[in-house]
Amino acid sequence: MEWADELAARVSGPQVINDSKTPSGTVHVGSLRGPVILDVITRALRAAGHETTLLYGVDDLDAMDAQALLTPDAVERYMGAPLAHIPDQASDGHASYARHHAQTFIDLFADLGIHPDRYYWMSDIYPTGAMDPFIRTALDRAQVVREIYRRVANVQHPNTWHPIQVVCEQCGKVGTTIVTRWDGERVFYECRPTLVTWAHGCGMSGWISPFGGRAKLGWNLEWAAQWSLFGVTIEPCGKDLATAGGSRDRSDAIAREVFEREPPINVPYEFLNVGGRKMSTSKGRGAAAHQMVEVIPPEQLRTLFIRPRPNHAIEFDPEGTDAIPRLFDEFDKLADATAGRPIKGELPPGYASVFRYALLDPAADVAAEAEAFRPNFAHLAFLIQVPNADIPALMVAEKGSPLTERERAVLDERVAAARAWLESYAPDRARMAVRDALPEESAVLDGEQRGFLGALAGAVATAGDDGTASGPRGGDAWQTAIFATAAGLGLPPGRAFTALYLAFLGRPNGPRAGWLLAGLDSAFVAQRLREAAAADATMSDAGGAA
Ligand SMILES: [Zn+2]
Ligand SMILES: [Zn+2]
Repeated sequence: MEWADELAARVSGPQVINDSKTPSGTVHVGSLRGPVILDVITRALRAAGHETTLLYGVDDLDAMDAQALLTPDAVERYMGAPLAHIPDQASDGHASYARHHAQTFIDLFADLGIHPDRYYWMSDIYPTGAMDPFIRTALDRAQVVREIYRRVANVQHPNTWHPIQVVCEQCGKVGTTIVTRWDGERVFYECRPTLVTWAHGCGMSGWISPFGGRAKLGWNLEWAAQWSLFGVTIEPCGKDLATAGGSRDRSDAIAREVFEREPPINVPYEFLNVGGRKMSTSKGRGAAAHQMVEVIPPEQLRTLFIRPRPNHAIEFDPEGTDAIPRLFDEFDKLADATAGRPIKGELPPGYASVFRYALLDPAADVAAEAEAFRPNFAHLAFLIQVPNADIPALMVAEKGSPLTERERAVLDERVAAARAWLESYAPDRARMAVRDALPEESAVLDGEQRGFLGALAGAVATAGDDGTASGPRGGDAWQTAIFATAAGLGLPPGRAFTALYLAFLGRPNGPRAGWLLAGLDSAFVAQRLREAAAADATMSDAGGAA
């Protein structure tokens, strides 16, 4: 995270950080990368003593240009209309289509520890007249704007083209109108039936005042005008906008040459690719931001976004994989390293600040958070499938002391996440059930494996630390007993584990067997071990459940 601290070290004076988004539809989880980066920059600036304001805007006067989320009868009427003027298609009480999608997205921010000082909606800003000076300047300097488009983006607009769009007085659309003249107070506009392919204009034309919300600036100009209006000093943007000659280059040039202001510092960031491809906001099936946050808790989601530098793409493929458990493991490794515990594998550069910025609360006690006991996610995902497992008690045994209030909250959060993961993204192999009766599949066990199971049953009966047959306590104690018993018989550990999985799950593989046994009632475990040890090759003829 040195990049954020470096940025904080090279700026001076009060800082205004801004981002804005067009609420065109369901938002893909990758769209949260920008807001998380904004938040990290804000935290770094504040930590460095800069007075800092975080703004988040909604560009909701933009035209509707994707019909996928409109009901069929709404397509002809609303394609090309400002998003803020389209009724909520979900009929769940939002004031507009734009409010529905923007609010669904914005509601996630607080849960992720992101707290903009102010939200603004362009549909509110234009009617106040705050954009009027910029509309006037853009119209007066339309020739300069056309030159910028030619020079920066190689886009040739005719000499009659002006950089604003009127909201048609007759049909209400904004995506279908073009302004061809400006007399210093009014513009002449046409609502053309074929200006764009995705919406039909009504043919209206006439003179109108472009002020007070009756027109909006073209997108690149609106962006540059926001920088002037709010005094923006830093604005990260996605790589798709930061290409040579792309939107950011155009808006930077417009800021300098039309509105005569230095553009904000850019922090371009790469995409999050799901399943190897960049998913567009409207196609995020199963990767919608509001669905993903139900499975991935905030601190792990923040880790996903901030572990790589902003200019590195993130590959994330949660469907049917261990990508989500690995995210928890990554976070736990950062905590281990920060707390000075031994770790396996590589750490990202600046791991301690990655951990600090991944925490939900900017004022959290980082050392205490790093020290806290956190259960392994994959093991937890298994344990919640074990009937009657007393998970809090198992965790206390694992930790070796009672859980703190905070640790109990982390456990509850992870249990909920693991349940959601098993119901949604988890691969089939992560879903398993302990059989009520000795599985028929265990018929393949050979004499050595049966001998091992019998020996383990005996070891369990004498291994209770209070002298009773209560068995080992906790997954690690069970794991030790399994290894010791197998070693005593000269049985390779792999064959010992296979025997256990077949005896309890009816499959040759599974999660750490110690956790499996620790989660089960010890009398049941002893009984099952003895059954499996006693059964011989004829058991399958006897029906399996001896
Ligand atoms: Zn709604
Ligand atoms: Zn019209």
